[in-house]
Amino acid sequence: MHAPPEALLTRLPPDYRAALAQAASLAEAHAARLWLVGGVVRDLLCQAPLGRDVDLAVEGDALALAHDLATRLGGRLRAVHAVFGTASVEVQAAGGATLILDLAGSRVERYPSPGALPQVAPAPIEDDLYRRDFSVNALALELRAVDGQLRAGRLLDPFGGRADLVTGRLRLLHGESLRDDPTRMLRGVRLAARLALRPDPATAAQIQAALEAGYLSLVSDERILTELCLSLEEPRPDETLRLADAWGLTPQVVPGLAWSEALAERCARLAVAPGNAPAGGPLVWAGLLLYDLATEGLTAITARYPLPAEAADLLRQLPGLRAVAPLLTPGLPNSGIDRLLRPFSVTAVTVLHYAEPAVAATTARYLRQLRTMRAPLNGNDLQRLGIAPGPLLGQTLEALRAAALDGEVNTREEAEAWVRRYAPGSPGA
Ligand code: ATP
Repeated sequence: MHAPPEALLTRLPPDYRAALAQAASLAEAHAARLWLVGGVVRDLLCQAPLGRDVDLAVEGDALALAHDLATRLGGRLRAVHAVFGTASVEVQAAGGATLILDLAGSRVERYPSPGALPQVAPAPIEDDLYRRDFSVNALALELRAVDGQLRAGRLLDPFGGRADLVTGRLRLLHGESLRDDPTRMLRGVRLAARLALRPDPATAAQIQAALEAGYLSLVSDERILTELCLSLEEPRPDETLRLADAWGLTPQVVPGLAWSEALAERCARLAVAPGNAPAGGPLVWAGLLLYDLATEGLTAITARYPLPAEAADLLRQLPGLRAVAPLLTPGLPNSGIDRLLRPFSVTAVTVLHYAEPAVAATTARYLRQLRTMRAPLNGNDLQRLGIAPGPLLGQTLEALRAAALDGEVNTREEAEAWVRRYAPGSPGA
């Protein structure tokens, strides 16, 4: 954790180093100072995997630097916000990966009222670090270029972030931090879950006070949702929920949701699922965490948060999904399994797979084989056999697929004979 600055840079992948060397030499040409800041410095220190986004603070004109950097790297300039002095440069790195350099002029922020968006003004890097959320994120590593090579300058750690990484402490920078931006509680819980950090006593007290003061209700539901979605992208979203519950956050964010042993067990199944098991992902995690929530709780979430359509759809399916689990009895024919599960999305059935171990073999079979199994004949074939388009054709197709699922019909010939028996009255059949 106390590696010298130069050693930290050697932990960067070569494509990051190459892009940052260009950025540092351009910064010198612009008479600007360039700093690697925030989470990326934290991750270099604890040798954690780096994200796609690299945050850079510029003491100087960040927009002009971003513009020239995009040109030099043959990258794309995006998300330019002149008023905040921020811009991103998207670069195609070797091997096809995309690297995003987020440049921001170093600045101070002033919060006009609790939870409101800040007003910003240019400021030295030291002040820029003061506006950050936690000590472990208030870190900056100066980047220089010497003969075109990337070199480290000073490492700034004004709040003891490195020591906090060693001792596992989550520490806010000042007493007004959560009043200024209550979403920091949600960022904090995510970071604490990921890095196994515990709030220090002052931070814990500040969280309690912020919850009691109801600061989260001053934040838009859209911003809260953004944080919740980020939690679902963590390696263990269930750990985030466990901590959120312990801190008393959950009732203000997802009322009715509570950490439980049953929930822990089902999440552990997903977390350790082998590679050939039904695939997880943020939405499956969401469904699994909310699996037990009463219908009113689910409706409240859909009413409160601007959920993406796929997520809202999954939440609507959860009550029906719970009801279907006891019907998937052993010995149920494939066609019966298919009839029960077909109304649900693949994501929903995957949730059921991890939520209900008693039916896991059935849901796995459905996802792997039954769902995509087709009847040996299609609608055109049936018309050729003399069944006119209409309800009978649809019904025959359904019944034929069920027969195929149950292994009663395997070949086209068997299917044709089956159709003649099934729909004997149809002309030509
Ligand atoms: P992650 O690995 O989750 O991406 P990160 O720390 O890089 O972690 P970002 O959201 O990319 O997270 O933020 C980059 C940096 O900006 C943080 O490390 C922190 O210093 C600062 N920051 C981001 N959001 C806030 C906030 N709400 N309040 C204060 N500082 C923030």
